[in-house]
Amino acid sequence: MKTYALPESDYFLSGHASCPGCAVALGVRFVLKGLGPKSVVVVPPSCIAVMAGPMPLSSMRVPVFQTAFETTAAAASGLARAYKALGEDVTVACLAGDGGTYDIGIQALSGAAERNEDILYVCFDNEAYQNTGNQKSSATPWGARTTSTPRGKATRKKDIMEIMAAHRIPYAATACPGYPDDLVGKVEKARAIRGTRFINVLSPCVPGWGIPDDRSLRLARLAVESRAWPLYEVEEGLRYTLTREPAGIPVAEYLRAQQRYAHLTDADVAEIQAEVDRRWQQLIRRTGEQS
Ligand code: SF4
Repeated sequence: MKTYALPESDYFLSGHASCPGCAVALGVRFVLKGLGPKSVVVVPPSCIAVMAGPMPLSSMRVPVFQTAFETTAAAASGLARAYKALGEDVTVACLAGDGGTYDIGIQALSGAAERNEDILYVCFDNEAYQNTGNQKSSATPWGARTTSTPRGKATRKKDIMEIMAAHRIPYAATACPGYPDDLVGKVEKARAIRGTRFINVLSPCVPGWGIPDDRSLRLARLAVESRAWPLYEVEEGLRYTLTREPAGIPVAEYLRAQQRYAHLTDADVAEIQAEVDRRWQQLIRRTGEQS
């Protein structure tokens, strides 16, 4: 069994209210390890807000600022400027879901990225509004069944990484809790950079994806190894680097392990495989185009 050399200190306490087997909870734990004690987190409505707990209770050992859905990056921008004015070296990080990032929070996020605010924005992408019962978001992939797309989503997943890269921010990366050393390493690297940094963490959801509660990390790894969720970094919007060479297993192994894709025909799966292959080739081209 592989062991990981992760920071020993934990800033996320047991006893919070996530579902058993939740990959978001594990991702939050790893991200907080990477952030360390000199950090403040901004959390919009999401499963993370539920886990963080209502005042005066908290499951996190760093200050938590719970804000409105639309204002995560704006609130973080103000906090970062306030700490700078006070001369305090504090990492201000956003911990948001995909609904609060790809959809409702994108205006504030885009504004902060354009101003190159000194914030680290982490999106825990569980590919739907899971906190309110699995409604589709613009992060939901084509074909996935949610409670608002019972026959499968008819449109593609929004490419948030390309949107963030187009802002030419200093650092953007994908990650997942299935590879904790990669995730924590990216948080530590991002923490040392100034300006707007963005990390998108694929986070399998037990009820939303229709998976057993001991399978979320396996699903995260299948996503990476099938190239459905490659692990890479984009620096200054130009330099693409792959941080893990995936095995290139068929995407069917990833899809067929989830109830939300149980209705897909073999032709549907072949269509998804073709899209995964197209995007992989595009990514490989970009890693070779170092500008
Ligand atoms: S609904 Fe999904 S993302 Fe939310 S706590 Fe449960 S497993 Fe985690």
